[in-house]
Amino acid sequence: MPNKKMKVVIAGGGTAGWIAAAALAHQMGEILDITLVESQEIGTIGVGEATIPPMRTFHRLLGINEQEFMRATNATFKLGIQFENWEKIGGKYFHSFGITGKQTIVTDFIHFWLRGRELGIAQEFGDYCLEFKAALKNRFSINEQAKVNYAFHLDAGRYASFLRERAEARGVKRFEGKIAQVKQNPESGFITSLKMESGQDIPGDLFLDCTGMRGILIEQTLQTGFEEWGHWLPCDSAIAIQTESTGPAVPYTKSIAHHAGWRWQIPLQHRVGNGIVFSSQHLSKDEALNMLLSSVDGKGLTEPNVIKFKTGRRKKSWNKNCIAMGLASGFLEPLESTSIHMIMTAVTRLLLLFPHGEIKQSIVDEYNSQAESEFIRIRDFIILHYKATERDDSPFWRYCKDMEIPHDLMHRINLFKDFGRSNQVEGELFRLDSWTQVMLGQGIIPASYHPIVDLMPERDLQLFLNSIATDVDKNIAMMSTHQDFLKKYCPSVVSNIK
Ligand SMILES: Cc1cc2nc3c(=O)[nH]c(=O)nc-3n(C[C@H](O)[C@H](O)[C@H](O)COP(=O)(O)OP(=O)(O)OC[C@H]3O[C@@H](n4cnc5c(N)ncnc54)[C@H](O)[C@@H]3O)c2cc1C
Repeated sequence: MPNKKMKVVIAGGGTAGWIAAAALAHQMGEILDITLVESQEIGTIGVGEATIPPMRTFHRLLGINEQEFMRATNATFKLGIQFENWEKIGGKYFHSFGITGKQTIVTDFIHFWLRGRELGIAQEFGDYCLEFKAALKNRFSINEQAKVNYAFHLDAGRYASFLRERAEARGVKRFEGKIAQVKQNPESGFITSLKMESGQDIPGDLFLDCTGMRGILIEQTLQTGFEEWGHWLPCDSAIAIQTESTGPAVPYTKSIAHHAGWRWQIPLQHRVGNGIVFSSQHLSKDEALNMLLSSVDGKGLTEPNVIKFKTGRRKKSWNKNCIAMGLASGFLEPLESTSIHMIMTAVTRLLLLFPHGEIKQSIVDEYNSQAESEFIRIRDFIILHYKATERDDSPFWRYCKDMEIPHDLMHRINLFKDFGRSNQVEGELFRLDSWTQVMLGQGIIPASYHPIVDLMPERDLQLFLNSIATDVDKNIAMMSTHQDFLKKYCPSVVSNIK
């Protein structure tokens, strides 16, 4: 063991700060000296409650027990996202976390489905996906026969406290107070310490900037620069409000588009998280608030939380001896619930590329190149939802429909339109199934299917399609209702589950 422990200072105790603290302490706690600084007076952003399935792998890495975590955060299960009014007003589709159809060695399932559709023997695309049908029937189970791919809806404040407990138990020191100054080495520009308003100095070797959109270290001090993507993702504001639950929690997030953005509904065990995301150029704050308040069912539990944001990414996530994580590293709007996931990949990346002693530029460059490509791929997937629309009922949607989009995304859309092919780049978060569901859901129907499926006699194709749909229905019949499953698996102390 090295005799001098590396000092890691984490600035910020929101979801990002505590995820980083808990993971570093769990994996490298014995060889690191970790301090986290946060200010209760400043507080956290207070949103970020829908997640995606890779969170389960990350939790396994941290040895987190799923039931314990769900009880502590009043979590519910999430099988995907239901999109309403995105392709057109009144249109609905589902982006599930599951696989649709069956993998074949010949070609992707969609080609069999397209031919079946042409012959009039195929059901809706989603009917061949267990997660989709389970979500709509409000079913959930964890069992060997009917394996579902799932994520969670969770209470963000409780999640940070849950992680804090684990991090502190593994030796992370927490410091309450405001950072007044970030001190740097005059020659190298490396950060040397955080000076607190109380006058105390917190020195470190490596600093993680988890101070949210302020980016106190990465931007206010190191002036790293920000690449803005507002021309592709024009929403720049949100209002969030928590309400009482009015019925059983459904196992999916709802994303409902409106004439200048969209709004969300995230059901937890004890309440519902609601929010509206909008472009301030197309909708005023007061109009957005009225729209949100008139759309929620339950009684309000919190005051509306108004959030302005800039979509884009920090030009370098890692600059000198500072790594930005969470909102300090950039922001992609929450349409596909990717931000918490990106904190987790940032921490995993740091663990893999952790500097051996001195920080060398090669490791910094590698980290930054991986972070950039992750941001860009997720960004393109989100842009797809805005671009591929038939909506032209408002200036906002006309802008989205007509805007120029990144070349790679245009290529992907054309490939799907012409050949029904969704390609998935190596290491990419969103899999082929995700691209296919969103392309179809947004109204892009391929002009043709792979000719190899014509070799399958019509009768065999019908048997093939029917057997998948029948299996899905059989598995659903074995599942509990979501509410019953929560009650048995992870009832929270303050849950509203009856
Ligand atoms: C509208 C909206 C909806 C979202 N929905 C989702 C979602 O459904 N799913 C998802 O994955 N993500 C979502 N996100 C993103 C998610 O909220 C964030 O990724 C996550 O909460 C991490 O935030 P953070 O920890 O980086 O920042 P914050 O929560 O802002 O924390 C910043 C921390 O820094 C501290 N700090 C700041 N300045 C100082 C100072 N001077 N001195 C000391 N401490 C300081 C604060 O006290 C706080 O502890 C959403 C974001 C927005 C804006």
